[in-house]
Amino acid sequence: MDYYDCIIVGGSYSGLSAAMALGRSLRNVLIIDDGKPCNATTPHSHNFITHDGKKPAEIAAIAKQQIEQYKTVKFYTGFAVKGTKLDEGFQIETKAGDIFKCKKLIFATGIRDIIPAVPGFSACWGISVIHCPYCHGYEYRGSKTAIMSNGDLAFHFTQLIYNLTKDLALITNGKADLTAEQIEKLKKK
Ligand SMILES: Cc1cc2nc3c(=O)[nH]c(=O)nc-3n(C[C@H](O)[C@H](O)[C@H](O)COP(=O)(O)OP(=O)(O)OC[C@H]3O[C@@H](n4cnc5c(N)ncnc54)[C@H](O)[C@@H]3O)c2cc1C
Repeated sequence: MDYYDCIIVGGSYSGLSAAMALGRSLRNVLIIDDGKPCNATTPHSHNFITHDGKKPAEIAAIAKQQIEQYKTVKFYTGFAVKGTKLDEGFQIETKAGDIFKCKKLIFATGIRDIIPAVPGFSACWGISVIHCPYCHGYEYRGSKTAIMSNGDLAFHFTQLIYNLTKDLALITNGKADLTAEQIEKLKKK
């Protein structure tokens, strides 16, 4: 069958969540996913109840296993390269040249992080270069830490992360764009 009630492009956590809800409503669904979630490099996920400390791929595998019991949901491994609006519904074409049609379309393609051109940054992304203190800050509590940020955001992060470690340096990657008042407050710490 190549005509679906819904095609979901992106089959990581958001796409799988949508698929579960639709599968449970007996909708014919196709998930198109090329298996490159944004958190692929991180060894463990945190701060998500019932899954704290699990490997990211393990969370996705459990979700997939649960969704597979809803027989109206199908999986396709591949990359969607083209979408076309039809008179009724949509058409999606994949890199392999397969074509699928649907009434409704969901994009659950996530975001792509733009990694700064700093040598070694990319190799450490999600491991020791971390994007979120709530996800991974606890694992680095008490450790020597640098925050790469500037301006109001840097000030905010510094206050937030100071509770996890007092050994903090702020790297502003150029002239510090903080107000005199903010700098004074930070110096007191
Ligand atoms: C390094 C890192 C660590 C993180 N750690 C945590 C954590 O510990 N705890 C926490 O709660 N959150 C964490 N997050 C955030 C969490 O990973 C994201 O919120 C979550 O992955 C978002 O899910 P998503 O489905 O929207 O996108 P993604 O998980 O990024 O998935 C998008 C999917 O769409 C697919 N896709 C994209 N375009 C196409 C296309 N054209 N055709 C087919 N498939 C396509 C991709 O291959 C991918 O599988 C972390 C994020 C990062 C970057």
